[in-house]
Amino acid sequence: MAVLMDGKALARKITDELRNELVSSGLRPGLAVILVGENPASAVYVRMKEKACEKLGFFSSGFRLPHDVSEDELAKLILRLNNDPDIHGILLQLPMPGHLDEKRMLSLILPEKDVDGFHPVNVGRMMVGDECFVPCTPRGIMKLLDEYDVQLKGKRAVVLGRSNIVGKPTAMLLLQRHATVTICHSRTKNLADVCREADVVIAAVGRPYFVDKSFVKPGAVVVDVGVNRVDDVEKAIELFGESSLKATKVAEKGYALCGDVNFEAVEKVASLLTPVPGGVGPLTIAMLMQNTFDSAKRFARES
Ligand code: NAP
Repeated sequence: MAVLMDGKALARKITDELRNELVSSGLRPGLAVILVGENPASAVYVRMKEKACEKLGFFSSGFRLPHDVSEDELAKLILRLNNDPDIHGILLQLPMPGHLDEKRMLSLILPEKDVDGFHPVNVGRMMVGDECFVPCTPRGIMKLLDEYDVQLKGKRAVVLGRSNIVGKPTAMLLLQRHATVTICHSRTKNLADVCREADVVIAAVGRPYFVDKSFVKPGAVVVDVGVNRVDDVEKAIELFGESSLKATKVAEKGYALCGDVNFEAVEKVASLLTPVPGGVGPLTIAMLMQNTFDSAKRFARES
């Protein structure tokens, strides 16, 4: 049976360390979070980020913009925040409504305040191994692997998914740590066979129960990044077992959350496995706090 990688406990540890460092630094990191429209999942994520700021004593500034806000208005807000000395991190919650050019809007954020690490300057710096903001989820995944002493040098890693937010940056970080990395996507042939060669599997496809036992070499480490909503909870339990749907609290609301991995099947073959929820998710938030604090420290050093 796989050992569970407890992201919640690690996030708590990181946050406690951050809190101690924050007290001695005398700084008040500031994070601005911009949410456009009423996407319910985005609203939940934004609230979680703001709550994390409140708990740590960060200055948090939330901006809720209507779904039909113009690019000009959004751009003006970003430029204003770029010049606000109380703000050290600016986060544009994605996805945004279709009429807004995400790439253009992200590139308006000052790279020094781009705590999500999505600005092309930070992406480029990461590619060449320079100091930069590392995107929060990939940074959290690496923290988790380190916490559980997963050796990466010379190991085969397969990343399922090639998004700019998760798949590509995670692959880059694994490469920097000397793993031999394969990135898979929707056009990859013989996916299960490719995956079964991996010592470390990172699943970030956004499809419930996608990774089953046939994808996983016995003893492999499996990190499940996916967060998927399942509406037919009873059917899912019948097909995939109760432990694949850990979020019983959510199930009471009529739906449940699950990852990309068929938990019940894969825990029998993997050596280490992340649960959903309680795996990568809490680390994403902890890394956002870390990036914001790092940014505040840098601004303080340079002012
Ligand atoms: P995304 O932008 O939708 O990317 C999904 C990737 O999976 C794409 O590269 C896609 O391939 C690939 N894919 C989709 N179906 C596939 C299939 N049948 N076979 C092989 N590859 C397939 O998603 P994302 O933003 O990276 O997020 C992935 C998951 O992680 C989602 O469930 C999301 O909710 C979750 N997430 C969690 C956290 C967290 O903090 N826990 C943070 C971010 C995201 P193509 O490129 O070929 O289309």
